Amino acid sequence: MEIIPELDSNVTIIGAGVIGLAIAAELSRYTDRIYVIEKCGSFGQETSSRNSEIVHSGVYYPEGSLKARLCVKGKRLLYDYCNQHDIAHQKCGKIIVSQSGDDHDAIEEIFRNSTRNGITDKVILDRTEIQSLEPHVSACRGIYFPSTGIIDTHGLMKTLETEALNQGAQIVYGSEVIQINRLEKGYEVGLLESGNNTYAYTSQIVINSAGLMAENIARLAGIERPEYRIYLWKGEYFSLLNGKHKLLSRLVYPVPEPHHVGLGIHTTLDLSGRVKLGPNAIFMPDNQIDYSIDPEHRMDFFRSVHGYLPFVEPEDLAPDQVGIRPKLQKPGDPVRDFIISEESHLGYPGFVNLLGIESPGLTACLSLAQYVRTLIQVYL
Ligand SMILES: Cc1cc2nc3c(=O)[nH]c(=O)nc-3n(C[C@H](O)[C@H](O)[C@H](O)COP(=O)(O)OP(=O)(O)OC[C@H]3O[C@@H](n4cnc5c(N)ncnc54)[C@H](O)[C@@H]3O)c2cc1C
Repeated sequence: MEIIPELDSNVTIIGAGVIGLAIAAELSRYTDRIYVIEKCGSFGQETSSRNSEIVHSGVYYPEGSLKARLCVKGKRLLYDYCNQHDIAHQKCGKIIVSQSGDDHDAIEEIFRNSTRNGITDKVILDRTEIQSLEPHVSACRGIYFPSTGIIDTHGLMKTLETEALNQGAQIVYGSEVIQINRLEKGYEVGLLESGNNTYAYTSQIVINSAGLMAENIARLAGIERPEYRIYLWKGEYFSLLNGKHKLLSRLVYPVPEPHHVGLGIHTTLDLSGRVKLGPNAIFMPDNQIDYSIDPEHRMDFFRSVHGYLPFVEPEDLAPDQVGIRPKLQKPGDPVRDFIISEESHLGYPGFVNLLGIESPGLTACLSLAQYVRTLIQVYL
C-alpha cells in the first residue's frame, strides 16, 4: 500500500459515531493533525442513530464502574453542552414502576444503588403519586428521576462535528480502516476509499471507537484478547399509534430484567412527542448486523407493557427501528463494564481501545472523551 508522508498525523480516531466525534471535539482543543476516519458517507450512521436518545441518570450501573461514573458526570456535561450550543433536549423525567409487592425489594435496591452512584434528585412514589404524574400508568410503587431526559442526537453529533472541524480536525468520510501496523514509533494506518483506492499514512496515536467493529479493529492491530470479544444483541422498537402517545408525558420503565441485558421494554419519548416501546434484547449468535424487525414480536411487546400501560392494545403497535448493542457479554454472562484502555501494557503505546460502548454511551460521550484525553495526555 502506498504510504503518503504528507498525511502523517498526531491522532487517528476510527469511527464518526457520537463517541468518535466527542473525542475529536475534545482532543482538537489541545492538539492538531487529528483525523477521524469513517467508512460511511456521513456521521452517526450506525448505533448512534439507532438508540433511545435518552439522557440517562446512571441508576443501575455498579458503583465505581466506568458506566456509572461516566454516565453521572456525562449527564451534567451533556445538559450544559446542549444549553451552550442550542441542542434540543428536554428533562422530561423517568419513573421506574413496580406492579406488585414482588418488585419492592428491587425498587429499594435501585434506589440505594442510585444513591451510591451519587444521584440525589429522585423520590420514591406510591400509587397515588404515580397516578398524579402519569394518570394512565398502572403501578403500586415507583422511583421518579426528574432530570433524566431526551436529546436530539443528530443535533448533538452535528454540533460535535462542527466543533471538531472548526478546531482543525479533519473528518474523512467514505474511507475504511483496513490495516494497522505497529511501527517503532506510532502506527501505519491503511485506508480503503469508496472508489477502491488504498493508501496509508502514519499516526502517533490511534483511537479505536469503531462501535460494532471495535473488536475487529483491535485484531487488525494485532490485539486479540478473550475479554475483548464483542457479542451483538439486537434491540427492536415498536411505535405507539392511534393517538395513545398523548397519554404519556414521561419515560416509564419497568423494573429491569435480571443481569441487565436490557432495561426491560420501556417507553421512549422523542422531542416531537412520539412514543416508542422497546428495545427488546435478542442475542445474535453469528454477530450478524441485521436491522430487520420481526413484526411477529408485536404480541411480546404487548404482553411486556400491558401490566403497567393497560391502555395499550396490540393494534396500537407498529414495527419501528432497530439498534444493535455491542456487548461484552453473551447470554448468561455477568454484566460487563465499558473497556476503555490505553494499550501500552500490551506493547501498543498510544493505542486506545473502546469496546462494549453500549448504553449509556450517548449520555457519557463528553465525559468519556475527557477520560480518553487523560489516558493519552503524555503523548499529546
Ligand atoms: C438499542 C439501543 C438503545 C440505546 N439507547 C441509549 C440511550 O437511550 N441513551 C444512551 O446514553 N445510550 C444509548 N445507547 C448506546 C449508544 O447509542 C451508544 O453507546 C453510542 O451510540 C455508541 O457510539 P459509537 O460512536 O461508539 O458507535 P457507532 O455510532 O456505531 O459509531 C462507530 C462508527 O465506526 C465506524 N466504523 C466501524 N468500522 C470502521 C472502519 N474499519 N473504518 C472506519 N470506520 C469504521 C462505523 O461506520 C460507525 O459510524 C443505545 C444503544 C442501543 C443499541
